[in-house]
Amino acid sequence: MNSFDHAVKASTGGPLHAGEITTVQLNLGLKCNMSCRHCHLEAGPGREEIMADEVVDGVISLASKRKGLLFDITGGAPELHPRLMELITALKSLGHRVQVRTNLTILTSPDYIHLIKFYSENDVNLVASLPCYLEANITAQRGEGAYDASISALQSLNDSGYGERLPLNLVYNPGGPFLPPSQSALEEAYKSELFERFGITFTSLLTITNMPIGRFMEELESTGEAASYKKLLVDSFNPRNIDALMCRHQICINWDGALRDCDFNHALSIPTSGDAPKHISEVDWKKIEGRKISTGEHCFGCTAGSGSSCAGALDTGDESLKALAI
Ligand code: SF4
Ligand code: SF4
Repeated sequence: MNSFDHAVKASTGGPLHAGEITTVQLNLGLKCNMSCRHCHLEAGPGREEIMADEVVDGVISLASKRKGLLFDITGGAPELHPRLMELITALKSLGHRVQVRTNLTILTSPDYIHLIKFYSENDVNLVASLPCYLEANITAQRGEGAYDASISALQSLNDSGYGERLPLNLVYNPGGPFLPPSQSALEEAYKSELFERFGITFTSLLTITNMPIGRFMEELESTGEAASYKKLLVDSFNPRNIDALMCRHQICINWDGALRDCDFNHALSIPTSGDAPKHISEVDWKKIEGRKISTGEHCFGCTAGSGSSCAGALDTGDESLKALAI
């Protein structure tokens, strides 16, 4: 048993198990138009991994067997997958909600700008990464030109109804080895800065803690801050976040068809545990719901402070422990 399992057991009396699955996260591949410093997947223009046709077909087949799920599509840059529009159309026609995680800059490229209209016409929820509202911090994390491109994409999205009629959530992640500040306070600052300077509106801000893995971990090691950052995450363990941990309510399908408890386990090549299905070709919902979650030291990144998930801070409150069916 690792130290995260010990901490969970001390709080809840048992190991971490999944409950009802409401979200399927799809990682369409590692190809990206950017190479961000904090990327836990080490995605970039040189990566060729992409979801194969048989896996895409498997996802559509899986979606036909269950109703009312949220399909949360990510990458790399999911826009670079040649079957993205076809996949979204199929999932929507099967009655599911669809959310795409976009890095914004890709939506300013002449080859992909048409996707803004497509997303809008298909009621696709957008989650857009904007690690800061200040140019210097975005440039440091994402490279030259990323700030202007992100602002331009946000303005185009607003023009297409995002931020008003359609949900447009922005994602903040810290620019260094520290926990995110209060999500609600930071959202206020983002809203006023982006509106006053650019007339941009959005729905909500999601704060996400940097995981000590991938490119961010390499940076921590190069600056000698890896041990202190991991200690910060452990010392900030907050059991009130356990119930809402995203792995308890979702399953991830990787670009190669592998099933994972979450995107971070995917980055670390940690398989689902025990007899839980390992590949999309073996999906058995009964074994996915109720599976024991595969954990590791990195999991402290999800329980630290106000908590962290692909849907932002967790903040589940004191009642959460009572709801744990483990
Ligand atoms: S963080 Fe997102 S935008 Fe940046 S390299 Fe990774 S996948 Fe691409
Ligand atoms: S890293 Fe993944 S498996 Fe671990 S707690 Fe977070 S969501 Fe769950």
